[in-house]
Amino acid sequence: MYNGQAVSLKSIDTGVFELEFDLQGESVNKLNNLTLKELGEAVSLLAETKNVKGLLVSSAKPAFIVGADITEFQSNFALTAEELKAWINETHKTFSAMENLPFSTVAAINGMALGGGFELALCTDFRVLAADARVGLPEVNLGICPGWGGTVRLSRLIGTEAALQWTLTGKPQKSQVALDQGAVDCIVASDVLRQEALSVLHAAMAGEKSYAKNRARKQQPLVDSLAVRTELADLSEKYGKKLDPNYPAAGVILASVIQHSTLDFAEALNVEVDGFTSLAQSDAAQSLVGLFMNDQLLKKKSKRWCKQAAPVKQSAVLGAGIMGGGVAYQSASSGTPILMKDIREEALDLGVKTASKLLDRKIDKGRLDNAGKAVVMDAITPTLEYNEFWAVDLVVEAVVENPVVKAAVLADVERAVPDDAVLASNTSTISIDSLAESVARPEQFCGMHFFNPVHLMPLVEVIRGSKTSNQTIARTVAYATAMGKTPIVVNDCPGFLVNRILFPYFNAFNRLLIDGVDFQRIDRVMEQFGWPMGPAYLADVVGIDTLVHADHVMQEGFPERMGHDADVIAEALLAADCLGQKNGKGFYEYGVDDSGRRYKEPAGLARQLIADRMTQSLDISDQEIIDRMMIPMCLEAVRCLEDGIVETATEADMGLILGLGFPRFRGGALRYIDTQGLDVFAAKVEANKQHGALYQLTDGFKAQQAEKRTFY
Ligand code: NAD
Repeated sequence: MYNGQAVSLKSIDTGVFELEFDLQGESVNKLNNLTLKELGEAVSLLAETKNVKGLLVSSAKPAFIVGADITEFQSNFALTAEELKAWINETHKTFSAMENLPFSTVAAINGMALGGGFELALCTDFRVLAADARVGLPEVNLGICPGWGGTVRLSRLIGTEAALQWTLTGKPQKSQVALDQGAVDCIVASDVLRQEALSVLHAAMAGEKSYAKNRARKQQPLVDSLAVRTELADLSEKYGKKLDPNYPAAGVILASVIQHSTLDFAEALNVEVDGFTSLAQSDAAQSLVGLFMNDQLLKKKSKRWCKQAAPVKQSAVLGAGIMGGGVAYQSASSGTPILMKDIREEALDLGVKTASKLLDRKIDKGRLDNAGKAVVMDAITPTLEYNEFWAVDLVVEAVVENPVVKAAVLADVERAVPDDAVLASNTSTISIDSLAESVARPEQFCGMHFFNPVHLMPLVEVIRGSKTSNQTIARTVAYATAMGKTPIVVNDCPGFLVNRILFPYFNAFNRLLIDGVDFQRIDRVMEQFGWPMGPAYLADVVGIDTLVHADHVMQEGFPERMGHDADVIAEALLAADCLGQKNGKGFYEYGVDDSGRRYKEPAGLARQLIADRMTQSLDISDQEIIDRMMIPMCLEAVRCLEDGIVETATEADMGLILGLGFPRFRGGALRYIDTQGLDVFAAKVEANKQHGALYQLTDGFKAQQAEKRTFY
């Protein structure tokens, strides 16, 4: 009856039709402009057809509909508010036409129905869900809200509070939760989904179930009474408390749901559309949708590398310390058996114990059983010898950060492994090219920089030395991917990508301290800016000794920018044996109080050390603190891109987000420049140029600014 490139409509029985989604040339169904146009045409056809009694809505793909097409979002976001509303209302017309068809409709939901996909399913009278499928409205994670009636229909169907929980967290819901709360009508085994959905449809057609009642329920507002108003005000307060102002979507969703709960259906939809329009034009939405796209690009790049790589079937790690133990755990728990070698039996015991504890935590959370733990533990082979290394495909070197020890260890292990094995160093500060001099096959050597703690931090920098071959990069990327990590390939330079961009920020922090700005205030301002922790706290977490060591490497690598022209507070802290969190003393003091609670307080000693060295007591605004901290970081990101340390703006920004916790809603350093506008950013740099070489625009940036070329 209708045969499109995404939607087809056919008669499957007398008076019964099936509307099937199957977007050609794609692995998943998504609601792109083409699909929506075809859906509109198919629904119009159905509405005009006589003697139709029922409609089954289904998918020919492994998942129902994964959502709206996010790649099309960005161009739509550039529309004016009026154009955006017209675009959304077009879909509303189609969805409402489907919802108002004069016969029963049933959606058979397999795999997942998320975002727009679930909003569409909400327009049918009955939803039959495969037991292993998930449904939800994850828009908040993209900085937007559902725009096709999702918050309106869902809140009327499952209640205001439950709908708030779905939409404010964006979490895809398990089938049982969806059923218990009333978002779907039944759950069935996935292999009988179509059959069961048809049974529901036949029951409805026979009048055993009332589709009209279901429809009315989705459209019925709450009665506007004092009790209801009080209840809504309570909900608003309860969920309002948890909002982060940097992520405006949740606030808009909360306000719209509370507001539209008592409104007529059509008015309620308008409230939702207004919310969507205001969010779609926010910087946070641009950044968060951009992040989604960035993530897709990284996945695509990794996939390309993985295709060229021989898989890593057996790996090894040298060093069973903080990092080595973490790598062993991560490798084994993601299915690649690993030898863990150290020179000390106690280190091996500790490495094994750490893995065991992490697995126990998973058991406690019900995410693993004892048999599963045994499999992972069996996949870690602690050893003091090289004699089992003959079958190893890739070695991660994670011994102490000492170039002499690393050089010796790399030369030794190279003799113990097969000729085609890859050697990868987890060094944070030693040049990959200089370490490559200690091996006979430098083309099979690269950096593989994990972040601490390995099991939690998603990023792995894969560092290409000047002699590293593409096969070596491909195999290392494949291994990182198999471990569930996000690899980013970068070229060798001091600090690689992430630390090179981080240290100008620490350098800026030191200058502010010398200018007499209080570190607790700087932390507060930068945390409000969106960082998970301010620079003083971060320094304590990294470890003051580690920070000072890396700072020396950066000063040596980039003396013109990263050298200090004043005292370095971290050096003074180190000299006073303040190592940060690891010994409880740093910028802050850490401990446990009398009632057993952990505390973190600005350390008097740190304040004294700073007071002894500061040269003025600068009166400075919060925004000036932000600019002085962020400009050096942003400009170093620009330099990394210009110097070819990283290939794309996307990878530079994702490195910062995944490796440092750069505020997601700002999308990374280069996105942050784009958001401000290149001219505005350049003016800020100009206003700060007296602070030295970290506050100077590059020639490349100036050219880019003149040509009005943004990073994205
Ligand atoms: P660590 O001191 O906890 O562990 C080092 C381990 O190496 C120790 O168990 C030691 O016994 C072992 N070792 C020393 N010589 C050895 C040898 N010849 N053969 C085998 N094992 C040997 O150190 P770590 O923090 O795990 O750091 C290891 C590496 O990872 C360093 O290069 C460090 O720069 C890098 N790194 C550390 C972090 C971090 O936050 N700790 C983050 C990224 C990278």
